[in-house]
Amino acid sequence: MSVSDRHRYRREKLFEAGKIASKALAFACSQVAAGVPLLTIAESGEQRIRELGGQPAFPTNISINHHAAHYTPALDDTSTVPELALVKIDLGAHVHGYIADTAQTVLVGKDEKLQNLVQAAEAGLQAAMQTIRAGLRIWKVSKAISGAIRQFKARPIENLTGHSIDAFNLHSGVAVPSVARSGERFVSPRLKEKMVIAIEPFTTYSRNPNVENLEPGHIFGFVRSQNPSNSKLRNLFSQMKVKFAQLPFASRWMTEFVEPDQISHTLETLRKEGCIHSFPVLGLRDGSFVAQAEHTIIVEQTGCTITTKRPNE
Ligand code: MN
Ligand code: MN
Repeated sequence: MSVSDRHRYRREKLFEAGKIASKALAFACSQVAAGVPLLTIAESGEQRIRELGGQPAFPTNISINHHAAHYTPALDDTSTVPELALVKIDLGAHVHGYIADTAQTVLVGKDEKLQNLVQAAEAGLQAAMQTIRAGLRIWKVSKAISGAIRQFKARPIENLTGHSIDAFNLHSGVAVPSVARSGERFVSPRLKEKMVIAIEPFTTYSRNPNVENLEPGHIFGFVRSQNPSNSKLRNLFSQMKVKFAQLPFASRWMTEFVEPDQISHTLETLRKEGCIHSFPVLGLRDGSFVAQAEHTIIVEQTGCTITTKRPNE
């Protein structure tokens, strides 16, 4: 394959993944209503991704109210959507390792201030996408995001960022913060043409807009250099790596490999051996609500292209 063929192929797969993720997100969001089990919502999104010819790039995150990210239901989860809630649905699809990552917030119930928070996150995302082009320092993108959010009298979460994406790598090293720190104005990295970036502002009214680890989660990631010492476990681990493409996975996806009552023990053993790590649930300690919006984009010479465009965009 020539270089230009390879670029064309990559772009094609990125758009395929983007379309799949966008459709799956719309479907998962349409399921959100008071009383619906989170397990149903999470699995419906993932199943839709598979039906459309992709694979989940990570478990569906359903983060409610003061939770910002990394909540996914376990197999025995009985929780349901509350009467008044900000429900962030964040999901990803990949096609041959080419990833799309996208999120939306659904307001359940009526509340103007919460609706405003959702709009602020969307406005932050739109402002970023209107600013991005090759050669620009990331600081300028952060500035656009925070400026748009402040117009809604909301604040961006400071310690959650957008991120670059590579094939089979969801967080490949470049961060796009939603706040522009003055010290970074002339030193923050420049966007490069063809970079794939997920932009994801989170918004809140909290006086301390920084998330913390609130509780252990049910999402796990591979430690790529590490393998289990025991040969039976090593075998299982290599099958997991193939199945999950070394991307983040949910404890409930382990039913493929072990009996449900063996999942916790198996994951705990792998964790102790340093082969996997768990993602704790991130949220605001003071209980303030959080909204989020996310798209995956490709940086172009004069702007950017959204791979996860929604039907109404
Ligand atoms: Mn995401
Ligand atoms: Mn993301």
